[in-house]
Order: sequence, then structure tokens, then C-alpha cells
Amino acid sequence: MLIDTHAHMNDDRYKDNLDEIINLIKKEKMTILINPGVDLETSISSIELAEKYDFIYAAVGYHPHEAKDATEEKIEKLDTLTDNKKVVAIGEIGLDYYYEYSPKNIQKKVFEAQIDLAKKRDLPIIVHSRDAHQDTYNILKNNSNNLRGVLHSYSGSWELAKRYLDIGFYISLSGPITFKNAHKLPEIAVKVPKDRILIETDSPYLTPVPYRGKTNNPIYVKYIAQEICKLREVDIKIFMNDIKKNTLELFDKIVL
Ligand SMILES: [Zn+2]
Repeated sequence: MLIDTHAHMNDDRYKDNLDEIINLIKKEKMTILINPGVDLETSISSIELAEKYDFIYAAVGYHPHEAKDATEEKIEKLDTLTDNKKVVAIGEIGLDYYYEYSPKNIQKKVFEAQIDLAKKRDLPIIVHSRDAHQDTYNILKNNSNNLRGVLHSYSGSWELAKRYLDIGFYISLSGPITFKNAHKLPEIAVKVPKDRILIETDSPYLTPVPYRGKTNNPIYVKYIAQEICKLREVDIKIFMNDIKKNTLELFDKIVL
């Protein structure tokens, strides 16, 4: 059984052989794949994928890179998209001060507007945060009432992870846990409680070892799971059962 809580199958890198790749993933017994949007167009194409394939679920949202294009009308359109029963989260949303493709104040405004939407629709959020941990934490903390979600491809410190856990968030680990220069990640992989950990590939990015450098594929989530199990000294079957339980608990619109 495989679960990937974050993969962009509607990315251009898959467009030449998408059906073929997705059928392969299905054959590898992927039971849940959550495909987030990064703007209105990709949110719509995520839903189209989710409607075509049983095991794919969609999230809708404006990535901080695209925040500058997120007009009020477009956020309202996201709102109506959540009526679809396969839309299981708002995402991916958040702050990215590393690239800063959108001005910081706009990123914050759009992040908060989408948090409001998640609360209104009682949906979890999928949070992207890069070089913006203090602001991300502050916004989540200030809005933590009736808000739940996951820090996707988490790359911060254990101290900060603990604070996110304290306000009820999940921590999701991806390919970098398999890298030789994984820095703080092994500590986090060991310390996150078993009922708060999630796994993802963030395909097509962040390809794990042994395929690092190639285009990522959701089936490689098994290398991420194996590495975490090695670090936590836990049996993979037991670990995957926890992952399944956590995924269904956070993304509770998913019906298997
Ligand atoms: Zn992503």
C-alpha cells in the first residue's frame, strides 16, 4: 500500500505520458494521492484528474508564488470548487520568501484569505513555507481556532516543528529525508509523534535517493517511507498503517 499526500501530476513535466504514468502508479497499489493546485487553472485540472482516477484526490488553492494573481473573484471561484466531493483540502497555500515571486504583503493576504476559506468549508490546509517560518507560524497560530492542516515538505527545525505540533498541525516529510545532507530532518523524522506524521513526494520535485536528479514519481514515496522506518526503527507495515490512519484523519473527506 502506498500513499502520497502531495504530488503535482498536472505539472507540465508529465504531460507527454500522463495516463501511462498514472496507470503505473495505480498498479503499484497507490491507494491515496493528493494533487494540490497552485492557482485556479491547476486547481481545476487537479479536480479533473481526481474525477478520472479513483485514488486521486484534489486540493485547491493559490501557491505563494502565484499569490499576486489571486484576485477576490478567483478565491471565490476556489470556494465553489470545494463543493466537489473529491476536493479534500485547500492547498497549496503559504509563504515563500526564498523566491519571493509575489510581494510579501500580498502573500500574507492571500494566505489568510484561503485560511478563512478553509475554515468556512471545514477543510484542512496544505501549507508551503520556505524561508518564512516566523510569519507562517504567526499566521497559523493567530488563526489556529478550528484550523487544521499539514506543513508539507517540512524543512524547518525540530523546535519549530514542536510549535506547529502544539497548535495541532501535522508534519509531512519528503525526498530530502533520503539525502546525505539531510541536516535536521532525521531528528524530525524520529521525534514527530506517530499520529502526526505524513509522507509525500512533492512530485515532480525533490526526487528521493536512489533516483535523485531524475523527475520524481509518486511511487518513489516508498523510499521516503523506508528511510523514516529505518530512523524510527519501526516495521514498514506498522508505519504505513499509521500513515493511512493519519491521512484519513486529517483529510476526512476522503472515502476509500
Ligand atoms: Zn507542492
